[in-house]
Amino acid sequence: MPALANLTSREELLAEALGEGWRPGPPPGGEAEDAPPDLLPKALPLSQVIRVDYVVPGCPPPAPLIGEFFNAFLSGEMPEPGYVFAKVKALCEECPRTREERVLKKIVRPHELLPAPEVCLLDQGMICLGPVTCGGCSAACPSAGMPCTGCLGPTPKAGDMGLAMISALASLVRAGEEGEETIPKEDEILDALVDPIGTLYKFGVPTSLSPLRERAGVRGSSSPYPVPYQRGRGGEEGGGR
Ligand code: SF4
Ligand code: SF4
Repeated sequence: MPALANLTSREELLAEALGEGWRPGPPPGGEAEDAPPDLLPKALPLSQVIRVDYVVPGCPPPAPLIGEFFNAFLSGEMPEPGYVFAKVKALCEECPRTREERVLKKIVRPHELLPAPEVCLLDQGMICLGPVTCGGCSAACPSAGMPCTGCLGPTPKAGDMGLAMISALASLVRAGEEGEETIPKEDEILDALVDPIGTLYKFGVPTSLSPLRERAGVRGSSSPYPVPYQRGRGGEEGGGR
């Protein structure tokens, strides 16, 4: 999430946070050592800075996934390095809500709608990232009436969460209607998506495959460390193994 700051300059970021009068260095009357540390040029994925052996994803990681990690660790049965302690299947698979419509007729923000219980939030127009997000949290947010924002990261199948979700939305918007005359209406529906980057890449700007990645200062595989999210042994069911 902090990597969303990569979409602006350090100067703009600090001015927004500290006010236009902000100046580098110690506060008035302070010593040199009182100066806050300077920001790095860009926020990087952790794996670009240190070697990441295992990932327990989430913001915060769900207790069952933390428990799974410690069970494996304490039993001496850790998987191969690079393993992600999350499910391989998408969040929708464990969501108690039912997907039926599979047509996106409008986009609404969470504060604009009291969602019907038991009905898929995406069917009701909320941008829920459940189709492209790893399971492992028992669909905590959709269960409480809030759309998933993708904190467990993309499924192996989705790869790039934002691009996968854009593809899903493109196929859902007014599905079943074809022809050029439908395009303006489809555009009108999709234009209602406020803050597309913050919605689709809340947790994935620097690891995105899209041009955002370049903009975030992450080029190629310059890291000396392996890229994380290489699931060591993925299973269809729980825990990704
Ligand atoms: S509410 Fe979200 S997680 Fe649940 S079925 Fe719909 S899209 Fe999937
Ligand atoms: S529903 Fe989505 S955002 Fe909420 S905890 Fe689960 S993965 Fe994270």
